[in-house]
Amino acid sequence: MLEPHSYACGQWIGPGQDAARLKNPVTGLEMARAGGATLDFQAMLDWGRNTGGPALRAMTFHDRARMLKALATHIDSRKEELYALNPLTGATRKDGWIDIDGGIGTMFVFASKGRREMPDGHVYLDGEVEQLSRKGTFLGQHIAVPLQGVAVHINAFNFPVWGMLEKLAPALLAGVPCIVKPATQTSFLTEACVRIMMDSGLLPEGALQLIVGRTGDLLSRLGPQDVVSFTGSARTALALRSMPNILANSVRFVAEQDSLNASVLGPDAAPDTPEFDLFVKEAVTEMTTKAGQKCTAIRRMIVPDTLVSPVLDALTARLEKTTIGNPETEGVRMGALVSADQKSDVLAQAARIGNDAQRVFGDPDHFAVQGADPAQGFLPPMLYHCNDPAAARAVHEVEAFGPVSTLMPYTTIAQAAELANLGQGSLVASLITNDPEVARAITLESAAWHGRIYINNRTSQAESTGHGSPLPHMTHGGPGRAGGGEELGGIRGVLHYMQRTAVQGSPEMLSAITRQWIPGAPERKGPGHPFQRSFNEIEIGETIHTGSRVVTLEDIEHFAEFTGDTFYAHMDEDAAKANPFFPGRVAHGYLLLSFAAGLFVQPDPGPVLANTGLNALSFQKPVSPGDSIRVRLTAKRKTRRTDEYGEVRWNATLYNQHDEQVAEYELLTMVAYSR
Ligand code: NAP
Repeated sequence: MLEPHSYACGQWIGPGQDAARLKNPVTGLEMARAGGATLDFQAMLDWGRNTGGPALRAMTFHDRARMLKALATHIDSRKEELYALNPLTGATRKDGWIDIDGGIGTMFVFASKGRREMPDGHVYLDGEVEQLSRKGTFLGQHIAVPLQGVAVHINAFNFPVWGMLEKLAPALLAGVPCIVKPATQTSFLTEACVRIMMDSGLLPEGALQLIVGRTGDLLSRLGPQDVVSFTGSARTALALRSMPNILANSVRFVAEQDSLNASVLGPDAAPDTPEFDLFVKEAVTEMTTKAGQKCTAIRRMIVPDTLVSPVLDALTARLEKTTIGNPETEGVRMGALVSADQKSDVLAQAARIGNDAQRVFGDPDHFAVQGADPAQGFLPPMLYHCNDPAAARAVHEVEAFGPVSTLMPYTTIAQAAELANLGQGSLVASLITNDPEVARAITLESAAWHGRIYINNRTSQAESTGHGSPLPHMTHGGPGRAGGGEELGGIRGVLHYMQRTAVQGSPEMLSAITRQWIPGAPERKGPGHPFQRSFNEIEIGETIHTGSRVVTLEDIEHFAEFTGDTFYAHMDEDAAKANPFFPGRVAHGYLLLSFAAGLFVQPDPGPVLANTGLNALSFQKPVSPGDSIRVRLTAKRKTRRTDEYGEVRWNATLYNQHDEQVAEYELLTMVAYSR
């Protein structure tokens, strides 16, 4: 008998007297006792806010990203323990792969994005410096800092591992401690993963707590710095997000709820095209994976009216091959629903869909099940056909959270988009078409109603990730019915756990706060040429001013001939003069860059290992033959990269003989640490 424990204030606490008794959906036998423990929710919040939060915030984004990478590596090394429990959720090993390996993979992506896209510091910069004054003495910069509360993560039963890790990774990267509350029915799998994470010793105390069972009065104790991230039904989301203290304290409430996702087959996708086969394949995969218990599963298949019949035949032929049964039996493709209750719920919702549509495949009273009793948590894939989808309601409103989908016809592209939008807001809509204009037309009509648009065709099919897969790089969430929330999406997902603050002040103030030199902030003079200083020695603001160099007509002609860039603005006085930007022949911008490098580079071997790029280059004033240029080079930002070297970004500004700025850019270098 499994007894998943809660983890509160550093203690594991087993099920209490009123624990729920969970049955194995495959055998119907009791398998676990979960919940019912008396937990001190205020103490849990205090532990997170006062112990976990400060410890996490003391780390930099890169420290936390490294911690995530180590955690993901550790879970990966013990994932077979999770796969051993996976069949008790009714899921096959392949279903478990989405949950377990998918969750670990998501954590790895956040670990890597954290180091590549966030600074090795405590303040995240959102956008560029805003010029708020003419002379540049008063500027603005948006920053983001971690919230000082706790993130409460409430998850649905269908992805006990991924559901936790996809929320945990961005929250921990942001620096916010988490209290995870999985759905009770599959809490034993979440608990096993939490135990693995706690065993690793990688998380600071208070960074992660777990509630198995009910949340008691936890949510009514949340305050202005806390966040709730919820995945589950629209009903529960509404009840929780409208709690008085959640509203009064403006507690952030991110909701991912149910969704009537659609897949549209393009009018070009006749039965002999690769797109036709692709549509059928994806539709069947979405119906049967996780026995259809996926928030992103295709609930509505919208196909040209002329193709209904061939699509139906092709779907039927594939669905007939779906082997249903004990998820541990060899060759079984679709396992059980998570519980007997869930099965009854799906049947009840399917009956409502049946008022609008006719069932054309799958009889829940007669179907074959391998290695188990069909009376347990099993259902066949059930396909409905709705002839008049514009008039129907249930097919667009009722989510049967199981292997249930409805096929419906459209006549025009505009109608296909309208039908897709009748779901009142979804997580994902897919378009299977090889016609870019169809993709554009439907996307423009539908994007406002769907959090993600997934387009697939013969070009992308081999590498595409699937209609139903939320990816850590892309946002997951949708408007309206889907909850109005957003998760993942790379660093966007991290920002849900941070406060964006507009900071205004002088360049010196902003530089001190952001640890990034901003033009106008004080310059420092180093003891020597900065290219002879190691990564650890270089100070932000360290500056050199070079000598100047005259740019001659011979230089311009030599450069033009040497590179082949004989654009008229450099070579033809009359044509250049006729151009509104130039007073006559001017130097090539790239010539100026090359001369600038010649002016600021220190040639001897030293700690600077490579010039890896150049950002935000702008040529601001033309340089004519006879003008001279000089450079101001300032260390702008430093980021550790490996144990051997780090990246130094420099501000390079070019001036002419009148001290007017003629060009500016950010130069990227890799610089070795001193030994
Ligand atoms: P649910 O009943 O709303 O439960 C979701 C979570 O909320 C569970 O952890 C549940 O815990 C908890 N919960 C329920 N009442 C609560 C309360 N009063 N206070 C605090 N927590 C409470 O949804 P479900 O039936 O488990 O999940 C299926 C639904 O989730 C489907 O509609 C599906 O579309 C949706 N879903 C959406 C996404 C998405 O990303 N958009 C992903 C997966 C699923 P207990 O288990 O202890 O009741």
